[in-house]
This record gives sequence, C-alpha cells and structure tokens, in this order.
Amino acid sequence: MSKKTLSTIAVRGGIESDGQYAAVVPPIYLSSTYAFKGFDEKGPYDYSRCGNPSRDVLAQTLAELEEGEHGIVTSSGTSAIHLALQVLRPDDLLVVPHDCYGGSYRLFVNLADRGQFKLKVINQTDPAQLDAAFAEKPKLIWVETPSNPLLRITDLKDICQRAKASETLVAVDNTFMTPVCQRPLTLGADIVVHSTTKYINGHSDVVAGTLITKTKELGEELAWWANCIGITGSAFDSYLTLRGVRTLVPRMKQHQENAAKLVDLLVEHDAVEVVYHPSLPSHPGHELAKAQQTGFGAMLSFELKGGQEEVVNFINGLEHFSLAESLGGTESLVCHPATMTHAAMDTKAQATAGIKPSLMRFSVGIEDGDELVADVKKALDAII
Ligand SMILES: *Cc1c(COP(=O)(O)O)cnc(C)c1O
Repeated sequence: MSKKTLSTIAVRGGIESDGQYAAVVPPIYLSSTYAFKGFDEKGPYDYSRCGNPSRDVLAQTLAELEEGEHGIVTSSGTSAIHLALQVLRPDDLLVVPHDCYGGSYRLFVNLADRGQFKLKVINQTDPAQLDAAFAEKPKLIWVETPSNPLLRITDLKDICQRAKASETLVAVDNTFMTPVCQRPLTLGADIVVHSTTKYINGHSDVVAGTLITKTKELGEELAWWANCIGITGSAFDSYLTLRGVRTLVPRMKQHQENAAKLVDLLVEHDAVEVVYHPSLPSHPGHELAKAQQTGFGAMLSFELKGGQEEVVNFINGLEHFSLAESLGGTESLVCHPATMTHAAMDTKAQATAGIKPSLMRFSVGIEDGDELVADVKKALDAII
C-alpha cells in the first residue's frame, strides 16, 4: 500500500468502517456501557471510560497523522500533558522550557512541589543549559516549539540526539504546529501531545487533547494510565473533533496564507515596533524553522509603538478579530498576553520572558485574507 498523504489520512479516517449499515461517516456511540456476549464473555468494548468506538477512530486517525504507533484521546490538552507525566517516579528528573504554556508550567511546578518528580526549568535554546540538564540524566524532557507568544524555535533534532545518549524520553507539545507543519515523532521524539481544542478540532467548540507515542509499548502503558486516572475523552467531543480533522489540511493552508499576508502588512507599518513570526529572516529561529517545520504556522505576535492607549485603541479598531484567549479556530482572535494569557506572571516574570505591555498576539483565522489585512491596516492607521 502506498504511503498516504496527510489530507487523505485526515479525510478518510474511519470512513466506511461501520459494519452494521455501511454508514459512510462513522456513527457516534454515546452508550456508556456495552453488553457482554454471555457469562465471562466480553466483546470488543465493555465500558466507555476504558474504550469507545468514536474515541478510538479519532485516536487512530491522529496517530496516523503524527506517524505514531498509538494514540490516546483525552478530556483536555492539559490532561494529555498530565498523562505524559505518568512515566515519572519521585526520583526522576523532568526538564521543561522556561517559556512553555502557562497551564503546563503550573502543572509541572505544583506536581514537583508535591514530590511527584524532580523539576529543572531551563532555556532550551541555550546549549550550555541543555548540556547541564542532560548531564543529570533526566527521565523526560518537555519541548514546546514554537513557543507562546514569541514563537521562539527549539532544535528538535538536537534535543532528540542528546536525549538518546542519556536515555531520556522526549515529549513535544505540537499544538501550535499540528502535524501539517511539524511531525516531532519523525525527528526522534517519543511522545507528541496536542490541545486538540485548538487547530486539530479547529472550530472553538470542543475542549480536548491527545497523546501519541512512537512505540506501541509506551502507548499501551499510557493508555492503561489514561483509563486508570479516568481522563479519556468523551464520545461526543471525539465525534466533533474527527469532523474538524477532516478539514485540517486545507484549514492550515488558509490560516498560514492569511498569516503571511498579515506579517507583510505588520512589518511595513509605522505603528508597529517589531513582528515575531518564524517566516521572517530576521527571526532568530528562521533557519531552524525552515529545517524542521513544513510550514511557519498561523500564530504571530507583534509590539505596537506606544503604550496602553494605543493597545486599547487598536483592539477597539478591529472589526474581524475577537478579543479572546485560545487559538486555532476558524475565526481570527486578538489577544493581549500581558493582561490575558500571561496575566498569571508578575511584571518582572513577564519582562524576563520578553512579554511587553505593548505585545499583541493574533490567532489568524480562515476568513478572506485581504479583508483581514484591510481590517488590521485600518486599526493601525488610526493609532499613529
Ligand atoms: C491550550 C494549550 C494547552 C492546554 O490545552 P487545554 O485543551 O486548554 O487543556 C497546552 N498547550 C498549548 C500549547 C496550548 O495552546
């Protein structure tokens, strides 16, 4: 059988798998429980926390998209991250980036504080800090690239090579990229997680997650834990998410085309101080992004000239962008990280992370790109 493209995997996942009525689209199985065939004779499913056909077909499709052996669908991106931490025992070291997703950071720090594992927070773009961390033979290293909101790029191949030498597992949060733009398991990672709440579902109407492993063994171990802890995803959310996945490839294409148009506008505009997007040759991670990614993604951030007045007027001047957290839906969103996604960090921590009060973040949607550009141009023109 020839190797399938991502589009074909996404569109065909579970199609014509219904054995009962030959439904083209897999039906949704909402039943919480399944009858035994007879005394001590279990069928393929018994209880929906342990296994559910609607969840399984999504898990298989996502695993295939990431080129993994085993997929697990969880109740949120956060629970997928929590699930990956089940490989750790109290004496094991977890290494995480200083600029990872805020919810991940909160989870890592608070579980480490309770003694569930040891934790080291480093800047993963600094080779000296990586050397020091790997010298301690960590059990797991957590990677998130590009980072949020400044889109810093971490070298996945380099980290995977170092990890191999010290028998460290590598987990990558691939939420910002999706398998369309980056496939960490093909670069040597062991685990990929997504908040499928974002691009994978893509319609801002589900909170869910997934964890995909390179090997069957690790996948089975973590699937056992997902059931044991009780964090498997719901049938209804899985059904909706698979529906979203069907259009993942064309959505990502349109998201990125629109983002590229907005980057062109922002770098030229006098109201803008600096633009952060890996497509820009001036971006420190540009060459690395070109090498390890198959697209630059559709998240971008930029600093406005001026202060709070300009920020407020800019936001109020936008028509086609909703002021909201989250990302990856069909609709465009604007976010002010300092008061929204990164508000839990104090001013000093924000300054260290490079999050200035004038920083704005866009999750670029799939509306008409020229109309988005005209909208942003109008809002920028009004503040100079
Ligand atoms: C949103 C997000 C998460 C958390 O996912 P939830 O579905 O909200 O639990 C984790 N990592 C990244 C990069 C995210 O954007």
